[in-house]
Amino acid sequence: MENKKVKVIGSGLAGSEAALYLAKKGYEIELYEMRPKKQTGAHTTAFPAELVCSNSLGSNDPLLASGLLKQEALILGSSLFEIALKNSVPAGNSLSVDRFGFSKDIEKKIQSYSNIKVIREVYEKINPNTPTIIATGPLSEKRLCENIKQEFGFDDFHFFDAIAPIVQKDSIDFSKAFWASRWDKGEADFINCPLNKEEYENFYNILTTAKRAPLKDFEAQYFEGCMPIEVMASRGIDTLRFGPMKPVGLFDKRIKTEFKKNQFWAVVQLRQDNKIADLYNLVGFQTNLKWGEQKKLIQSIPGLQNAQIVRYGQMHANTFINSPKILNCYLQTKKYKNIFIAGQLTGVEGYSESISTGLLAAINMDRYLSSKEMIKLDNTTMLGALVEYITFIGHKKFQPINSNWGIVKAIEEDKKKLKDKKYKNELLSKRALKEIEKIKKILEEETQCAF
Ligand SMILES: Cc1cc2nc3c(=O)[nH]c(=O)nc-3n(C[C@H](O)[C@H](O)[C@H](O)COP(=O)(O)OP(=O)(O)OC[C@H]3O[C@@H](n4cnc5c(N)ncnc54)[C@H](O)[C@@H]3O)c2cc1C
Repeated sequence: MENKKVKVIGSGLAGSEAALYLAKKGYEIELYEMRPKKQTGAHTTAFPAELVCSNSLGSNDPLLASGLLKQEALILGSSLFEIALKNSVPAGNSLSVDRFGFSKDIEKKIQSYSNIKVIREVYEKINPNTPTIIATGPLSEKRLCENIKQEFGFDDFHFFDAIAPIVQKDSIDFSKAFWASRWDKGEADFINCPLNKEEYENFYNILTTAKRAPLKDFEAQYFEGCMPIEVMASRGIDTLRFGPMKPVGLFDKRIKTEFKKNQFWAVVQLRQDNKIADLYNLVGFQTNLKWGEQKKLIQSIPGLQNAQIVRYGQMHANTFINSPKILNCYLQTKKYKNIFIAGQLTGVEGYSESISTGLLAAINMDRYLSSKEMIKLDNTTMLGALVEYITFIGHKKFQPINSNWGIVKAIEEDKKKLKDKKYKNELLSKRALKEIEKIKKILEEETQCAF
């Protein structure tokens, strides 16, 4: 049959998922994997879908964002989540796996398909004439990175994540925080959390005594170029007050003072992070502190004492493309119709997110090659919302994202009732799964018609 060959690059989480989906559909798959000939620095085995760090794939509860994402992918036919469930170890309501069992079972599954040929080589150059899913992950090999840069633009490629934490707007205490832009220039777009001298000193003490996450050798080389707040703080108590926490020109007009240069000792600013404006990031707060320490630090800031943190700050080597410019909502490149990109390379973050985008890229590759309408998932679903986020062209600075409720389309309901989080999540989850069931039906009906 014509058009039945697909190359999948990288047998990580996204690539293995994509290869298995397409193999089931009867495609001849060439699955390129450079390990064990060449390791990434984080991987240590030759197994597919090696989990490089934690063995947790996040929550299993569909009332939580990561759990919903898994449920959606399972309905759409995920092989990897099924294998993960078979290899799960006790971990409350999260899906943690025996990492070797998980990878070995995926390897067996790949080997069970005679139409998957594993090629142990570095894949160096995209061929726009060959249907290809690129899923080489956050530690993509540098020759391929160079080629991607040449093909899609040098400024559209990032090697490092210096991520600031993101909080939910409705958890901010606006009796303390206020809206303003510096010197009242333009719209009052920023949320400002002011600190007096005593509050700043308390914040500084927490920051300078907090535990940091260790950096790997291959990450340390990037470290000097990005300045986490804890490193800035170690240069002197006032460094942050002259940097990201500078108070100059920021005034809370509710407080009657003579407006001079400074009304406060220091100010933390938060900037809008998503289109629907319910998520805000802490400006200049890229950090490598451990997550528990970040929570303590953020909640010591007036106005953020009850902050719901949807993403913690992180610093690590992470190759990702400028998806808003490069990809469409099908995970297909806008430049070359034959080329799809999946996994962490697209700017999603996390094991489950990588698996799920691998699945969606494969579904759409199949549909593209069979001349069927591709699937655009609705942003009421967690996977659809993730894809919408990474392909949204309005980001001021595109940064990777993991599954969270803040990116999902808000629900129209009585606001009072929605204050009950469980009730709200039940509605969101139900709505998403209903939508995914519809998509499943479309996929199944068309499959039945084809035979
Ligand atoms: C150090 C580190 C720790 C992380 N820890 C966690 C964590 O604890 N929890 C979490 O949810 N997420 C974590 N992540 C983030 C992310 O979820 C994982 O990296 C995840 O494995 C990404 O899946 P992927 O399929 O996109 O890439 P990967 O799983 O990394 O798969 C990519 C594959 O492509 C291969 N490859 C790369 N370039 C080439 C090439 N040119 N030719 C052929 N093969 C190639 C690689 O060898 C690899 O097997 C971590 C990331 C890093 C870097």
